[in-house]
Amino acid sequence: MTALTLDIGDAEAMERLGAALGAHLRGGEVIYLIGDLGVGKTTLVRGLLRGRGHRGPVRSPTYTLVEPYELPPLTLYHLDLYRLADPEELEWIGIRDLLGAVSVALVEWPERGRGVLPAADLSVTIRYQDPGRWVTLTGQSAAGDRLVGQLDKKGS
Ligand code: ADP
Ligand code: MG
Repeated sequence: MTALTLDIGDAEAMERLGAALGAHLRGGEVIYLIGDLGVGKTTLVRGLLRGRGHRGPVRSPTYTLVEPYELPPLTLYHLDLYRLADPEELEWIGIRDLLGAVSVALVEWPERGRGVLPAADLSVTIRYQDPGRWVTLTGQSAAGDRLVGQLDKKGS
């Protein structure tokens, strides 16, 4: 388990961190985004998706639970489980079928999917500081440790 804590001063830096993380994805990764409402989870995802070529808006799929982004060679799924009443609801959206070798899951509020959601390769925990945010990246698998190592090297 490798961990890295970064001082991310503003929303632009958060998007850059997302893009840097996205650049190292190979497919198959599950990433948990942990932190309070408004802390910057979607901002990081926006930077990641734009970095992988997405044009247009990125909003938390609070009501639809999941939003797919086809960005060859990967398909990225952005999940927001804030309104999930029961982890079983994840079965209805076919969570297990979504995740394969060429897909990546970016999950806000993963706590709410406990028991059904696949285990994380990487957890990203975001905390408020004034100003800015602390972002802690923790590898939860070999793939996750590799991602942390790559971001560490870069010093982004
Ligand atoms: P969440 O998805 O966690 O609820 P959002 O990303 O939707 O949060 O919103 C976060 C808010 O905080 C936005 O207004 C964004 O511009 C701002 N923000 C994001 N990252 C940072 C940061 N590192 N420092 C300061 N403000 C940030
Ligand atoms: Mg959000």
